[in-house]
Amino acid sequence: MATKTATKADKKETTNELTTAETKQATQTKKEMEDSLLHQFFLDGLKDMYYAEHALVSALQNMEDAATTEELKEAFEDHRLQTQKHILRLDKVFKLIGEKPEQKTCKAMDGLIAEGEEIIKSTPEGTMTRDAALIIAAQKVEHYEIASYGGLAQLAVTMKHHKAADLLEKTLEEEEETDLDLTDIAESFINFEAEKEKEDDE
Ligand code: FE
Ligand code: FE
Repeated sequence: MATKTATKADKKETTNELTTAETKQATQTKKEMEDSLLHQFFLDGLKDMYYAEHALVSALQNMEDAATTEELKEAFEDHRLQTQKHILRLDKVFKLIGEKPEQKTCKAMDGLIAEGEEIIKSTPEGTMTRDAALIIAAQKVEHYEIASYGGLAQLAVTMKHHKAADLLEKTLEEEEETDLDLTDIAESFINFEAEKEKEDDE
């Protein structure tokens, strides 16, 4: 029974088609809001995150491949699957406000992803030090997402895009949970094992 409900909810969650009422509301919203400066800023913020989430799907795959421990590989894999859902939610948010989903280069995310790549290059394969460093790189990404989704959800509430706000808040919660999960993994054993590693251990 519980499983059945979850499946139904999942299905609903991944659909980004609008109902007739939602489409009507979106057209109305577009008419009312398109001249507003705040709407333009909100839209830019959504495009920034739409770009960031797309970039993260492949970045998380690279980090999963590079990670040493199964625990961290699994955490990156889980969050990659969540990230694909974040893209679908953004798709729906664009539609709910009567706009077309579009990406706009996010230099901050490009920089954070480049830092992650740098860590992979500068740490020896198979070390705990690499995992300890990758966790911090991933947490920097999550914090960028938390700040962005927190702000966007708040703006959506201000502009009375309540359904869009709910979707943005759902993603925000998942980013926060990921950040906490990464801390747990680091503190459970990775950081302690990393502390014992010496340069010539490899
Ligand atoms: Fe995300
Ligand atoms: Fe994330």
